[in-house]
Amino acid sequence: MELYAKRTLTIGTENAFKIGPDIAEIEKNGVNVVKLNIGEPDFNLPDPIKNEIKRQLDLNNTHYCDPKGILSLREAIAEQIYTTRGLTVSPEQVVIFPGAKPAIGFCQQVYCDPGVEIIYPSPGFPIYESFIRYIGAIPVPIHLQEKEGFITSAKQLERAITPKTKLIILNFPSNPTGGVATQQQLEALASVILKKTDPNLRVFSDEIYENILFDGIKQVSIASLPSMASRTIISSGFSKSYAWTGGRIGYAIFPTIDEAEIFKNLNINYFSCVPPYNQMAAIQALKNKDVLNSMTLMVKAFEERRNFIVPALNAIPGMTCQMPLGAFYVFPNIKSICEQLRVLDFYEKMPLALQAKTSPSTLFQAFALHNHHVAVLDRRSFGMLGSENEHFIRISFAADLPILKEGIIRLAKASQDNLGFERFFYQHFRTAN
Ligand code: PMP
Repeated sequence: MELYAKRTLTIGTENAFKIGPDIAEIEKNGVNVVKLNIGEPDFNLPDPIKNEIKRQLDLNNTHYCDPKGILSLREAIAEQIYTTRGLTVSPEQVVIFPGAKPAIGFCQQVYCDPGVEIIYPSPGFPIYESFIRYIGAIPVPIHLQEKEGFITSAKQLERAITPKTKLIILNFPSNPTGGVATQQQLEALASVILKKTDPNLRVFSDEIYENILFDGIKQVSIASLPSMASRTIISSGFSKSYAWTGGRIGYAIFPTIDEAEIFKNLNINYFSCVPPYNQMAAIQALKNKDVLNSMTLMVKAFEERRNFIVPALNAIPGMTCQMPLGAFYVFPNIKSICEQLRVLDFYEKMPLALQAKTSPSTLFQAFALHNHHVAVLDRRSFGMLGSENEHFIRISFAADLPILKEGIIRLAKASQDNLGFERFFYQHFRTAN
């Protein structure tokens, strides 16, 4: 008898969390690692939010609450959706989750039977791909092109859609590329969706980075385009905009109240409700002017760091890096570095079984961490299927400028350390020769 159900072995993971123990192991020996792997703002929670959490605790607001989310928070979110997207939604279409993450797996469970196809961006947030096999659906990655600013194109989408497509995942601004679709690009995607799909297909629009935008651009949601609101789930949350990843407040707006009720019932089954003191504080996040000011300053700091890091990365011989328009990540191409360091040759020497578990950019990531003490993430961490020949890394610039500068120095050294890479390779992969 098997211990685990078969599906258990099909779920993926998020490596940003998984490499934590590797970093801790290196730091145990007194070495400082420059951590550019983390997907969370390095800012403190704004005071008005903190104070409201404390006030709510003193009011003993620590009991069960509405599994759909506290009504006053859902009302504030509905108002926000009107202001930011021009959409009139009922608070009954809004469901609160513990973070923006649960809505991803829940939507796959609720809308997708085994055998249907789910379209998602690759590179993309790893949880999109991670869940698909778990629920028995078929993953259909759209491979984003560097030369197209890593934006899903209408042509790619049209080719990917089949009669079996049930869910299309979009994410702007994007993790890991920082890509943001223009209104025109979104209109082209919407036009394909309206022309080629059934009204019961759902678009999952992950807009968690909606406030982290640069160069004065504004967020456009595909849900705001004509005829799209009735097919689109808007997913967002408080983790990134308010530097509140530990607060675990996210939400989704569903096309109908009936659908929202299904998700409320999932909440009841999984976790009953989200902590009410945090939900009350989330209202402050949406309404307090000082919070808005803190967020504006944070986004300005991210923009300054982006303006530093992109040219600095492009100055490393062999590295090319696009200018992201949002979020706090860059996704440089390291193909030439992999060639310079002969990573590709070494990778080819590995036994096939080992090759299947790694990739050239994974080897570079491990080398940069172990030998040069800088933590970044490989291409495979953002969707594995079909990523074999894509050589990129994700760097988070949610770190202070001096840390970023040190990170660049270490990455530049790593990318020229041929002897070091060769030694590293033989030390870790003795079976290869
Ligand atoms: N979507 C994307 C695109 C993300 O990058 C993240 C967090 N890294 C999430 C969802 C999940 O956010 P949360 O921490 O609020 O669950």
